[in-house]
Amino acid sequence: DDLSLIGEDGEFLGFTQPEAEALPVVAIVGRPNVGKSALVNRILGRREAVVEDVPGVTRDRVSYQAEWVGKRFTLVDTGGWEPDAKGIDASVAQQAEVAIELCDAVMFVVDTRVGPTATDERVVQLLRRTDKPVFLVANKVDDAVLEPEAAQLWSLGLGEPHPVSALHGRGVADLLDQVIAALPKESAVAQPKLAGPRRVAILGRPNVGKSSLLNKAAGEERVVVNDLAGTTRDPVDEQVEIAGRVWTFVDTAGIRRRVHLQKGADFYASLRTTAALEKAEVAVVMIDVTQEISDQDLRIVDLVLESGRALVLAFNKWDLLDDDRRRYLEREIEQDLAHVEWAPRVNISARTGRHLEKLVPSLETALESWDTRIPTAKFNAFVAELVQEHPHPLRGGKQPRILFGTQVQNRPPTFVLFTSGFLEPQYRRFIQRRLRERYGFEGTPIVLNMRIRE
Ligand code: GDP
Ligand code: GDP
Repeated sequence: DDLSLIGEDGEFLGFTQPEAEALPVVAIVGRPNVGKSALVNRILGRREAVVEDVPGVTRDRVSYQAEWVGKRFTLVDTGGWEPDAKGIDASVAQQAEVAIELCDAVMFVVDTRVGPTATDERVVQLLRRTDKPVFLVANKVDDAVLEPEAAQLWSLGLGEPHPVSALHGRGVADLLDQVIAALPKESAVAQPKLAGPRRVAILGRPNVGKSSLLNKAAGEERVVVNDLAGTTRDPVDEQVEIAGRVWTFVDTAGIRRRVHLQKGADFYASLRTTAALEKAEVAVVMIDVTQEISDQDLRIVDLVLESGRALVLAFNKWDLLDDDRRRYLEREIEQDLAHVEWAPRVNISARTGRHLEKLVPSLETALESWDTRIPTAKFNAFVAELVQEHPHPLRGGKQPRILFGTQVQNRPPTFVLFTSGFLEPQYRRFIQRRLRERYGFEGTPIVLNMRIRE
């Protein structure tokens, strides 16, 4: 399906690949032995295609690439948790809560021959609270005789039960038709998998040295676009090699064009920054060391934080720095950039090329942190340790407890804590600090969300 890209002057710029999509995610939940694996195999046509097996002490979840009537989606089986001390009940409930967080639709599987159990009822409570589409799968209806049993599951309050036989295939096609119809075009939870060099946005206020950096980096060893197989190529991006590694600098056309708009320049600058961040994985925010750190610099840093991209700070025009200014700069950094003290810093000169190669390890570190996944078991051990050492303060005689947590996403690392009450911002910041102490996360924002169980 490749399309060739022709530039404005008719030159050949390369091929485009269809943009990577974020496939919608369907999660399967249910007690052990209700037939989840049988259903997964049925949907996959018994081709067991493991896309991603998240490692852990116990298996967290397994994702499969699935397809139905030409529509592709990711099927996630969260059923790999072993019951902990609190028993199977809690384990299945946890599984359901995690599934809700990371999917676009849920299939809740019940064994029609057994009927709803207490554990099932508990999961139903959780599922009734979500806005996401939930499909009640009445499994093991191998023939019409059991249909009335399936119909009784209306009483669970999850809408129409879908009688199926995962083992024999009965009813599965109808079920999938409806699941597919309920899925969004683009997943609200998944991120697209991008191929090719990693994508960098060069950001900074006017005259900070963005085009100088670009020219220096691109000028040294220009990469021939055609040499890069499997890359999504956009004519406004540029492939650049620094210290032996190729990167895609996004939206360089905007930097090169150097449009300096008079009216609303700020507005357009931030619009362009946002657009570049959208396409990038990591941002290099350039700061001019000859100038005071300005509100505009800080706004750009904030835009990066909001975008959830990895961050590297590049202090440019280092060749112009004298000792006085240098001492002052250090104070400024401490004051104004304390909230991003986790971002790697490089001191460069885009004009002389000084230390440009140091960008590479910083970019690599930031991206590695951004990609990090911590297995659920490990994360919970960390949380338990932290809570024991430093419990949440009592408020009005009550103490919000953290029941468990999980990392629902990476890029950037995003955690959800399931709690029995509201965790104060100060306590959440404490957890974030500890997470950084333990796992580093140098160069990446981390997101810590809370779900309160009533
Ligand atoms: P899981 O623990 O939820 O993944 O359940 P499995 O898929 O391993 O199934 C548990 C048992 O139920 C196995 O013995 C399956 O063969 C059986 N089973 C699964 N689906 C059906 C079905 O549609 N009809 C019948 N009769 N048995 C089924
Ligand atoms: P942009 O608007 O961010 O793209 O900034 P430019 O790359 O156009 O740079 C603005 C001005 O700063 C130009 O005159 C550059 O030559 C100068 N400049 C950029 N980087 C450096 C540097 O590292 N050292 C010095 N001395 N000047 C620089």
